[in-house]
Amino acid sequence: MPEALEAEEKSKKPKKEGKRTKKAHKKMKKGSYYSVSSEKLERKKRFCPKCGPGTFMAEHKNRFACGKCAYTEFK
Ligand SMILES: [Zn+2]
Repeated sequence: MPEALEAEEKSKKPKKEGKRTKKAHKKMKKGSYYSVSSEKLERKKRFCPKCGPGTFMAEHKNRFACGKCAYTEFK
């Protein structure tokens, strides 16, 4: 008799959720931040004024943002 009941109970148990799946992160090569045009090295991205040269700022639609110190500069 209890067999059917047991089966039902088991199915009601919440499934254990696995570890959070990692979101695929878009890798950005630092080399793509530069472009060499006619012997001159041009920087496509801005440096963060707080972190100094070497820290690039992410470009958004209307602003530049530093991922390191959260400095934001509006265009
Ligand atoms: Zn910064």
